[in-house]
Amino acid sequence: MKLLSQSAFRTTRDVSDQITDRGTRGLLQAGYIRQEIAGAYSFLPMGLRTLTNIANIVREEMNAIGAEELLLTALGSKEHWTATGRWDGLDVLFRLNEDGERPYALNASHEEILTPLLAEFINSYRHLEQTIGLYQIQTKFRNEPRAKSGILRGREFLMKDLYSFSRDQAALDVFFEEARKAYVRVFDRIGLGEKTHYTFASGGTFSKYSYEFQTELEIGEDIIHICENCGQSHNEEIVEKNFKCVECGHEKARTTKASEVGNIFKLGTKFSDAFSLKYRDETGMDHPVVMGCYGIGVSRCMGVVAEFFADERWLRFPESIAPYTDYLLVQGDHMDWAKSLAGNLEAEWRSVLVDDRDARFGEKIADAELFGMPNIYILSDTAKASDMPEVRRRFGA
Ligand code: ATP
Ligand code: MG
Repeated sequence: MKLLSQSAFRTTRDVSDQITDRGTRGLLQAGYIRQEIAGAYSFLPMGLRTLTNIANIVREEMNAIGAEELLLTALGSKEHWTATGRWDGLDVLFRLNEDGERPYALNASHEEILTPLLAEFINSYRHLEQTIGLYQIQTKFRNEPRAKSGILRGREFLMKDLYSFSRDQAALDVFFEEARKAYVRVFDRIGLGEKTHYTFASGGTFSKYSYEFQTELEIGEDIIHICENCGQSHNEEIVEKNFKCVECGHEKARTTKASEVGNIFKLGTKFSDAFSLKYRDETGMDHPVVMGCYGIGVSRCMGVVAEFFADERWLRFPESIAPYTDYLLVQGDHMDWAKSLAGNLEAEWRSVLVDDRDARFGEKIADAELFGMPNIYILSDTAKASDMPEVRRRFGA
């Protein structure tokens, strides 16, 4: 159990009126995040616990499809970024010391790092009996022209990026479908399942479309059209003047704003060609490895969940990602009671934050609601008289 009196951070009502998104306001007021510079946020302890809970769900689902985790460098070489044409071609790439002796990129994505690395290890069909999946959860840097909506669009943000390496298109297709299902499980588990749509978007290089996971959100930057007949979602960018579902041909759709929480992409041989990542088949012929890439905006997901669930009493996090599942508000001389209740809850693998501060009830309950823990237990004299804490559940009983 964690005692709130031991925390360095306090809630504040003093957040600029210019920040109107409920989620971002809540995260700032509750002391989950702090802006350091435009588009770059620090995660304070409660924010980090939330972010880590999301990252761990992503990690479990990636491991479940046989992908292995690694950690690549944040600095990248000019040589590798030039090999793909993206040193000059990727407008959001942060280039450091461009005209100096040691130019670097702050990596915006990691195809340029992982593909040449794997060329050291893969050269035979025997290495590709199974599709290889490698992923990391790491800070990405992008010089976005406009940083927006707190942690929804930053210049520095946490991403899970997975890359797959297959011997042919058929093997890629199989892995791709596994990854798609893993994404569905991730968004279900963090509470966004019902409102997250697998969306056809433009920009496929190797396949006709690229595929996005879009969560319905009023402050989202994207617009999606959801077919009224079959439910297939389409990004606005691909929709011709008049909507026609690419899946069933139906011509009516529901249109809504959305935020892209993830996307999956068939890369084909674009990067393996650039870095000569190839394998020799059973007959001695060389072939380029067929790749896929799969991103989830981990910090953006936290922002989307915050915005999505926040109510008029501010933040509200589902149990799967809340920094603590249970918030014990202790009013009066009831710490022994709090300790024993916390012990019981922790025995059931729940996590407990105890508000043991010497403050008025009104102040403590307001903070409790702002923090967004899903279950609030009030341990007061009145509650003690009946030997039952008063329980307030933010998601109903
Ligand atoms: P967007 O269209 O939103 O810029 P993208 O097409 O650039 O996204 P990817 O490069 O595939 O996205 O990144 C994978 C995921 O990382 C995205 O689906 C999104 O959830 C997240 N992401 C991308 N850019 C940012 C950003 N600037 N800040 C926070 N999250 C981001
Ligand atoms: Mg982008």
